[in-house]
Amino acid sequence: MIGGGASGLAAACAAARAGADVVILEQNARVGRKILTTGNGRCNLSNEDMSEDHYHGKDPGFVREALDFSGVSETLAWFGEMGLVCAAEEGRVYPFGGQASAVLDVLRLEAGRLGVRILTGQAVKRLEKAGDGFRIYPRQGETLSASRAIVAAGGLASPFSAPDGGASGLDLMKRLGHRVRGPFPALVQIRSESPYMKALKGVRADARIVLEAGGGIYERAGELQFTGNGVSGVPAMDLSGFLYDDFGCPRKDAEAYIDFVPDTEFRDLAVFLSERKARLAGAERAGSPAVDTARDNPPAADIELKNRQAAGLGRVNQPAGAERAGIQAVDAGRNNPPAAGMELKNRQAAGLGRVNQPAGAERAGIQAVDAGRNNPPAADMERYMTGFLHKALGVVLVKAAGIDLRAPAAGIGEKRILILAGTIKNFRFPVSGTNGFRDAQVMGGGLLTEEFDPATMESRLVRGLYACGEILDIYGDCGGYNLQWAWSSGRLAGARAAESLRVG
Ligand SMILES: Cc1cc2nc3c(=O)[nH]c(=O)nc-3n(C[C@H](O)[C@H](O)[C@H](O)COP(=O)(O)OP(=O)(O)OC[C@H]3O[C@@H](n4cnc5c(N)ncnc54)[C@H](O)[C@@H]3O)c2cc1C
Repeated sequence: MIGGGASGLAAACAAARAGADVVILEQNARVGRKILTTGNGRCNLSNEDMSEDHYHGKDPGFVREALDFSGVSETLAWFGEMGLVCAAEEGRVYPFGGQASAVLDVLRLEAGRLGVRILTGQAVKRLEKAGDGFRIYPRQGETLSASRAIVAAGGLASPFSAPDGGASGLDLMKRLGHRVRGPFPALVQIRSESPYMKALKGVRADARIVLEAGGGIYERAGELQFTGNGVSGVPAMDLSGFLYDDFGCPRKDAEAYIDFVPDTEFRDLAVFLSERKARLAGAERAGSPAVDTARDNPPAADIELKNRQAAGLGRVNQPAGAERAGIQAVDAGRNNPPAAGMELKNRQAAGLGRVNQPAGAERAGIQAVDAGRNNPPAADMERYMTGFLHKALGVVLVKAAGIDLRAPAAGIGEKRILILAGTIKNFRFPVSGTNGFRDAQVMGGGLLTEEFDPATMESRLVRGLYACGEILDIYGDCGGYNLQWAWSSGRLAGARAAESLRVG
């Protein structure tokens, strides 16, 4: 076994259980170091919502037989036999005790119980076919012979994966004739040169992000984290692999947009912003026509924004059209014609895209906008978003909408309100790529899966040679899918390799 990470330990235990004499060669001073860092130290080891849809690679269907062999329930039963108690949180499976070290402990105990020999500090620099078996050359120590070799050397992601005097698993396999896609960093922060990124540093927002890259449109929702030079958080990390093409080369001209109120329709947001302006301008207190107009025309029902963050408020559907980037903007302010089909010229600096204005958006709440005009301004535009979105985010969105922060809120026209609503639902920015392997949770690309038998993980090129885990051209979404792949493919490779010894 070359590599004593998650998949190597799983393969070693499976092979030893099936009667094989197993030796693990691990370059680090300890096996399974990376396991300790997973899931922020809690190890998200699987996910109850398991299907091949959560996997990526040239042929994601390659995972099917390994998941059939050891899916979530089989894997958890296996861990249960080793004494590990697990619990799920929104589908994500963790050790009940909340410590990643528990996962590594039970694996090491099991390997010891089954007689697996673990040789640490043994970076393998060469692997050769020798007759029916293999010769393995560690950087230090003796050359070993083996009748079967399982390469479970992982990928290039994270600091723990750097080759330590040995060769990377990919190089070992290339020398044996295997080909590689990429590799590229995946599950990693998306980078952007947008001038707004610096100001957003530290902002977290529950939002929907849509990435347009290489002609594809990909979207995810959840908590985004702005880092100062891009966007991180699970949804962004899940999208990062789409920034590389089929050959693992970076895609050019990628763009993304974020909908900061995904549960609220554009129309309701526009009405909400109009009403907010009226309130800020003091029109409500004065009983101005602004309020009356809104009251008489309340299709936005409660006028209050239906926002998940606001306690007790319900969900509102997202208009289908707003999901896409090339959405047509609408200028409900221009001549006040029917909303649908009108074009809003979006002039903000960010090159913000166009937004979809659902029919009827010119309704009452919007008409209320100018009604506060006769009241003295109660606030400037910097305060417009106060109490609604994260402060820094609110300021950026007002700016991105091309609105002067010092302008009185009462003076904002209906056109600007629509642009602001469009900016909140469609904050568009260029994407320049991703962070590198050091920051990545996994390696995208890897050994071409077409060169392996998915039923056994055996090489189709070199008999008796197996591979499992991240070294193969498969990676999963955040949420326990990568460790599940390591357990499933590792257990399958170990069991089949041991079996092949019996059948010859
Ligand atoms: C910070 C972080 C958090 C993560 N969190 C999660 C999570 O919560 N849930 C999840 O599902 N996935 C998570 N992952 C991904 C997951 O850890 C990996 O996909 C998984 O560990 C891959 O297992 P593996 O055995 O294929 O590779 P690895 O775990 O990388 O193991 C490969 C082993 O081979 C050794 N090795 C490499 N080359 C040689 C050589 N030449 N000679 C000898 N030994 C060698 C390495 O030192 C290493 O120990 C996370 C990753 C990171 C970096």
